[in-house]
Parts: sequence; structure tokens; C-alpha cells
Amino acid sequence: MKLLVTGGAGFIGSHFVRRILDADDIENVTVLDALTYAGHTANLGQAFLSPKLDFVHGDICDAELVDRLVRQHTAVVHFAAESHVDRSFTTAGTFLTTNVHGTQILAGAAMRHSIDRFVHVSTDEVYGPLLDGAATEDYPLRPTVPYAASKAASDLVALSYWHTYGAPVCVTRSSNNYGPCQHPEKIIPLFVTRLLRGERVTLHDRGQHVRNWLHVEDNCAGIELVLRRGIPGEVYNVGGGTDLSSRDLTEQLLNICGAGWDQVTYIPDRLSNDLRYAMDWSKLAALGYQPTHDFAAGLIETANWYRNNPDRWAPLSRSSAARCVTPDSAREPQHA
Ligand code: NAD
Repeated sequence: MKLLVTGGAGFIGSHFVRRILDADDIENVTVLDALTYAGHTANLGQAFLSPKLDFVHGDICDAELVDRLVRQHTAVVHFAAESHVDRSFTTAGTFLTTNVHGTQILAGAAMRHSIDRFVHVSTDEVYGPLLDGAATEDYPLRPTVPYAASKAASDLVALSYWHTYGAPVCVTRSSNNYGPCQHPEKIIPLFVTRLLRGERVTLHDRGQHVRNWLHVEDNCAGIELVLRRGIPGEVYNVGGGTDLSSRDLTEQLLNICGAGWDQVTYIPDRLSNDLRYAMDWSKLAALGYQPTHDFAAGLIETANWYRNNPDRWAPLSRSSAARCVTPDSAREPQHA
């Protein structure tokens, strides 16, 4: 397989590249990444030592470049995206350009060059909030924030290339990922890095929001399974992590970092903060998917990575100043 991976210098994409590079049937892997604020070649680390890895610094919206690269490969795994919900409140246009237009450019090239497989990586946030139950893949798409709306649109664009042209598109939708190398704007690394520096963290609306936390390596295992065995035109939920309210997550992080509740400030809820996401992932389980990471152990391993690699995240961290709660800042986004 000659594999093109978009967004391979980001959090999940870099784990995926490091995972798949040594597989016997992988002839080469080309990473296409624009190296936005979220992309770092350091995330690929030792993978650069492999003669199988090529890196192209470029934009998925560059149709000429994408056409040339897709032509040289037999499969695409598409991670590249604007991925941070909070940023989508202020720069929604960038989300639509990268996530929707960029996906259309890639899917169009996949169609023209008759590649064997196109895996489009998406999120459970496209289903919107569920008060109870769990979304199967045919659950209605009800995204509530610009990020999720752009991902839902990109899912439909990618699948339209299957329905219209027979391009072999599969979509994966995973829950919240955690693990080493995530940008410190996201809640787990944000809280860990602040707590390790003795700073305060902020919790929205008394921390009642529930998310499913999936180790990034379990998500990558699910994505690889879909790459190899997924049926074109199908969507696969990748779940099976641990359901936790943000209050319970905070408690675990405080314990791991040796901090107390006096380092937590409660703030009113941010804009459109979905109360709960939940997915049914039995369709992917039927292909053989089974997450293996224990959450408590994975969280400690993740926190230790940030503890041991300050050079990797400190330059990326936002101002260390603790936020104060004012009527205006109260509804400001803070973390996904
Ligand atoms: P990330 O923000 O860490 O990485 C995104 C990568 O895409 C970066 O390397 C960035 O440089 C690159 N990129 C952005 N715009 C680009 C462009 N125009 N051209 C080329 N490269 C570009 O994101 P992530 O957390 O690794 O997420 C990867 C994918 O998984 C995204 O599609 C996201 O929507 C999806 N997803 C993420 C999560 C999660 O918890 N992180 C959960 C479900 C789904």
C-alpha cells in the first residue's frame, strides 16, 4: 500500500503514522501537512528515520498539489482539519475552508485517480448532544457548534463521492481522544500543564458535561481496521472509551498532578456546550475492533508525558495567567 496521510503532524495523525509505518504491506507513507499552529514535525519523531516516510509541507486546499500526491498513492487517510471547538467560535470560515473544501479537493482527487481506499476521519460531535442512549452510524446529524457542523458537512461531502462516483470512501467517527502529543489547548493537556505549573484551571458549569475518552492508540487501531477491512460507503463509530463528567475528569487530573480543588475555578458555561455525547460502536466491533487501553493508566501515562517533555508543550501553551471570571469572560470559550 502506498499511503497518503493528511494532517500526519497533528495529534492523532502522528500516532497513526508511527503505528502503521512498519507494517509489511506498507510500501511508503507520505504525510501532507500544512504545519498550522497544531502541526509539529516533532510529533513524528523517530518515524523520520524510516526510509518509508516522506513529508510534504502543503495545504489540502492546494488542488494541484493534492492531485499530484493522490495520483502517486493507493490509499488516503484524511486527518487534516481545524480541530479545536473554541477556535471555531471566532474563525468559523477557516474551519469551513479546511474541513469542507479541503475534504472535497481530496475526495475529488481520490475519485479521479481510482485509489483503493479513502478513510475520512471524523468525530462523534456530528451527532450533537444525546440526553440518553447512544448514536449508531445512521443517527441524525445534529451538530451544534461550527467545528462539528464543518465536520458533519465534510462527512457528507466525502460520502457523496462514494454515492456519486463510487470513490471507496469510509468515514470513522471517534469520541474524544487523549494521549501524548496533544496540543495543550485541549482540556486534558491544558489542565495537566497548568496544574503542573501550580496554576488554576477553570471548569464550566460545575463540570457536568459528559464525554467519552478514548486513548489515541485505540482510535488509530480502529482507523487502521477501517482502512484494511471497512466497506466503502460505510461509516464506523470508534468508541469504547470511558464516559466521564468534566468534574470527574478534573478530580482524576488533580490527583495525578498532586493538586487540590483550590486550584479549580468554576465559571458559567461556554457557548453551546453539548451536555453529553455517546456512540454505539458495535458495527466496528463486528470487524474485530476492541479498545485495549485502561483509562486510569492511560491518563497517568499521558500526564507523565507532559511532565517529562516540557520542551514540547511549554512554547505552545497560552498565557499562564489565571483567568478571572467577569460577565464578559464567563461565556468565552475555554477548552473543548
Ligand atoms: P490536530 O489539530 O492535532 O491536527 C490537525 C493537523 O492537520 C495538524 O497537523 C495541522 O497542521 C494539519 N492541518 C490543518 N489544516 C491543514 C490544511 N489546510 N492542510 C494540511 N494540513 C492541515 O487534530 P487531531 O486532534 O489530531 O484530529 C485529527 C482529526 O481527527 C481531525 O479531523 C479531527 O476532526 C478528528 N477528531 C479528533 C478528535 C480528538 O479528540 N482530537 C476526536 C474525533 C475526531
